[in-house]
Amino acid sequence: MDNVSGKPTKTLLHACCGPCSLEPVRVLRGEGVEPVVFYANSNIHPADEYARRLATLRAWAEGQGLEVVEGAYDPAAWEDAAGRVGDAARARFGVITHGPDPALASGGGGAAAPARNDDAPGDADPAEEARRARCRACYRLRFEEAAAWAAAHGFDELGTTLSVSPYQYTAVIREELERACAQAGIRARFDDWRPFYDEATRRSREEGMYRQNYCGCRFSDEEAAVERAERRAARAAERAAERAAHAEERAAEEEARAARRAERAAYDAKRARQRAALRALRGQGRP
Ligand code: SF4
Repeated sequence: MDNVSGKPTKTLLHACCGPCSLEPVRVLRGEGVEPVVFYANSNIHPADEYARRLATLRAWAEGQGLEVVEGAYDPAAWEDAAGRVGDAARARFGVITHGPDPALASGGGGAAAPARNDDAPGDADPAEEARRARCRACYRLRFEEAAAWAAAHGFDELGTTLSVSPYQYTAVIREELERACAQAGIRARFDDWRPFYDEATRRSREEGMYRQNYCGCRFSDEEAAVERAERRAARAAERAAERAAHAEERAAEEEARAARRAERAAYDAKRARQRAALRALRGQGRP
């Protein structure tokens, strides 16, 4: 696609990680768009996790001839924007989890799963609302940085890979992307990439990419750990219930076997008595 000056559209693609970049880049290139990837993720905690995700993205992008630009890594700015919102939510609601749904994992590296974060704020409980507010602040910070960089470097539009994950708040991503782009005077290119999540999961596994098991921030790390523990406990309870059910079956079978043995023993005893009586009679009749 060309922009108004007849030049090819310059697209900056905000990327959260390598696995979530696979499908958006493939699809954009298929449409003739050559994106530049912008890694702006001050949310990621701790710093070595941030570096590991970036290294994974860079290693893959290098093989693709894809340009990757690193934004500022500023955890203090993230704490100021989103961390304090998360702290308030944590103080009020504790660790905000979504129950032991076995299909759930977190972030771009997670297993295939249906969306867990609906986009209808009115339906959500207060804890979910608080979590949504934290994530909104997190998206806002990252998109504002990306949009400002895009505008300063002559890009026409900004997209994001965040919408690959069904664990994110897709509608909020769109709102915040559009808001940041309007502020920076560029076009928002919002794509709902969720239909590509399964394929991204498959390809990232096939490529042996590092796949994180939490979204990125310190809260999501804690939430994902609690959810994993809940899933483990649910699986253990399921196994125990199965064992209990089988134990009842085994006990019933054993009872039936014991009844058959008792029946057989009673029959054998009766036959022995008959044989003894016969022998006694023959003994009496002997001359
Ligand atoms: S869960 Fe993810 S999107 Fe939400 S605040 Fe944490 S890092 Fe940001």
